[in-house]
Amino acid sequence: MNITVPVDACSPNSSFAAPAQQISVPRVPLTKPNPPKLSRMVGALEDIEASGIFSNFGPVNTRLEAAFMAQLFQSNGACVTVANATLGLMLAIRQAIGWQPRGRYALIPSFTFAATAQAAIWCGLTPLFCDVDRETWLPDASAETALLRQYGDDIALILPNATFGNCLDLARYDRLSTIHGIPVVIDAAACLGSVNAQGQAFGLGSRNAVVFSMHATKAFSTGEGGLIYCADEARIAALRTMANFGLSVEKLAVDAGINAKLGEVGALLALSKLNEIDEVATRRQELLQFYQSNLPDFEFQRMTGQRSAIQFVSALVPQAHAGQVPEIISGLAADDIGAAHYFAPHLATHPFFKTHGIAAPLPVTEDLCRRIISLPMADTLNEADVAYVCDRLLRLCPARKPRRRAASGYVGSAT
Ligand SMILES: *Cc1c(COP(=O)(O)O)cnc(C)c1O
Repeated sequence: MNITVPVDACSPNSSFAAPAQQISVPRVPLTKPNPPKLSRMVGALEDIEASGIFSNFGPVNTRLEAAFMAQLFQSNGACVTVANATLGLMLAIRQAIGWQPRGRYALIPSFTFAATAQAAIWCGLTPLFCDVDRETWLPDASAETALLRQYGDDIALILPNATFGNCLDLARYDRLSTIHGIPVVIDAAACLGSVNAQGQAFGLGSRNAVVFSMHATKAFSTGEGGLIYCADEARIAALRTMANFGLSVEKLAVDAGINAKLGEVGALLALSKLNEIDEVATRRQELLQFYQSNLPDFEFQRMTGQRSAIQFVSALVPQAHAGQVPEIISGLAADDIGAAHYFAPHLATHPFFKTHGIAAPLPVTEDLCRRIISLPMADTLNEADVAYVCDRLLRLCPARKPRRRAASGYVGSAT
């Protein structure tokens, strides 16, 4: 099938990002965006038209925010929708640091998407890139603590990413924020659908702003959209004002502002996706487990919660194949399979961030980036597709078992 949209709009490194004209979609693409079908919502669209309200936190958006609070956040705190997660991060960062930040650095993992660092830079901060944990791929707690000690008051913000929908320890970030007096914002872009170890929606109870995305390629796929949740209702009220030009109800600018509002049609899509996100995320997790059982020699992220909202499947190729991921991806492309290598190269090596950021030692990040491969996930994927991907992948990186010496009576007891 030939279509004319970019296969993967969020992918600066993807080998499929290049030609923008006619792209052939692979039989098993890396992601297959599945927003709710607007073409089947004619009645609801007519209701929006009849209401005459198309944006500015209208009735559909109000229903959406109430549904998020009831279904995901146990009516604890508040939330506000935004046009996308990057604008949500910019607002949340500015609200958290104010206009006289205490320092110049934003403590950010280097193993994240460019938007995390870009949002901090838009707020006038310089990324200070830290390493991630070898198993969870979340920001490494001891690396963060060491940098907080080393840089002290020069750090204006802690901005962790809940990597690939994995759950961060939000209570720890609340403590860090209190102990060091440093604002925290959580980049939870991929986390709508993630469930923490206690069985609750990721984010619930956080005193710091938690920013989610509804981009087409996320598990919670609508097209463009985002959500900021916080247990602190006053913080959300401030963010709502900031997202609408900083205007009060009297239409006076009372705070810094920008236009970051989600329109009513976007809210309608999100309401529909919210109804199915539990089913979508559960099914994706089942398929992840099927990948894991088919790829016993690959390493997978250790999940800290009960469920991650899987956007695509991330795995580490066996050490013997480190550095060969680009060739493996080309091989999969020849087999009509879409693959990529998020988040490699990591941010500290990108040209812009090299000149507008500083980096701590990143040994784990560097190892991950030599081995990470992103594999297909979609609402319509099935076990046969996964088996096909794994079969092709194993052919491209065969396990290198140590060769058994023929006539040795000493090595192993197997036949
Ligand atoms: C997708 C993503 C973003 C950007 O979200 P948008 O809604 O597209 O702005 C930011 N950070 C991370 C980690 C992401 O995965």
